[in-house]
Amino acid sequence: MVILPIQKNLEISKEETMIIRYACKDMGLNCPFIVSGDSVEKVVQIALDHVQAKHTQDFNTIESAVQIDVMRKSLERSTRIVAD
Ligand SMILES: [Zn+2]
Repeated sequence: MVILPIQKNLEISKEETMIIRYACKDMGLNCPFIVSGDSVEKVVQIALDHVQAKHTQDFNTIESAVQIDVMRKSLERSTRIVAD
């Protein structure tokens, strides 16, 4: 009698369709910018670049390492996990 390995791929393939999304609207900004990706780090980095380029007037100065870190954390809180 042959014992077949139990397939447990279902949950994994389900996770692969989940993406991280950041939208400026979620930060309360009147801006259509949305970025999505497969990791929070990537999405936050792109969002941070965008905020530094387009929203310098909407926030306090984002120049020092500490200010950038604070902004990074608040962007991270604004990300959502969505189904692709
Ligand atoms: Zn924006």
